[in-house]
Amino acid sequence: MINCKLCHSSDVIQIHDKLYSKDSGAVYRCGACDVVFIDPFMSDEESRLFYQNYNDYLVRRGVNVTADPQEDYRVRGPSIQERFENLRGFFAKKSAVCEVGSASGGFLELLHKELDIDTCAVEQNEVNLAFSSKFYKWGYNDIEGMPDDLKFDSICAFHVLEHINRPQDFLENLRKHLKPNGQIVIEVPGADDALLSLYRSKPYADWMYIPIHPFWYSATASITDIKDNYNSLDAELGEFNRNPQSAEEGAGG
Ligand SMILES: [Zn+2]
Repeated sequence: MINCKLCHSSDVIQIHDKLYSKDSGAVYRCGACDVVFIDPFMSDEESRLFYQNYNDYLVRRGVNVTADPQEDYRVRGPSIQERFENLRGFFAKKSAVCEVGSASGGFLELLHKELDIDTCAVEQNEVNLAFSSKFYKWGYNDIEGMPDDLKFDSICAFHVLEHINRPQDFLENLRKHLKPNGQIVIEVPGADDALLSLYRSKPYADWMYIPIHPFWYSATASITDIKDNYNSLDAELGEFNRNPQSAEEGAGG
């Protein structure tokens, strides 16, 4: 029997018996913290190789037509614009903002253009990091590569946390780069997508439970559970329906 990979509870049920593109694997939900998690996780080395070829994956999944970062920038444009309009109230003019998993850089571009913000990209895909260099002041492949004294008013991670095997360590790493009273702004796909939790569509589940999402967070408990491990973090939770983009983003990555 397997324990929850987030809170270690043994109160776990299997909810699906397949991972996309794999011969074996399964999906579980924790009765204690409500997180959905897969087994097995990808190893750190598998992940590193995977994200170096991430644009090719997006073509295979049908999200982008070509692996050119210009294509990624074009396809993501409308959903990034929508995200920016939803979240712009979180960001002060002329502040310093870092985005982890910044892909082709569209959100950083808007932060700089609309709010005169100093931007930082953290993107492990070299091609995307190079493509987006016109949108940022600082650029790094990973958080660990940043100078310790580089601190931000806000750190964003959109559709990133669900890719992380050790979310508590990840959040702690982000916090080291926050100024006093800084904020972390996170967006994740929901575990309670109606096609999964209400209609229980097996073909959709076969497609959605991808090996690169070790965790799926729910509105009710999971993010709060992580937050509770970091007493000084105040969490504010918002939900919005990004359909049809939500399906595309979830499917893509
Ligand atoms: Zn749990």
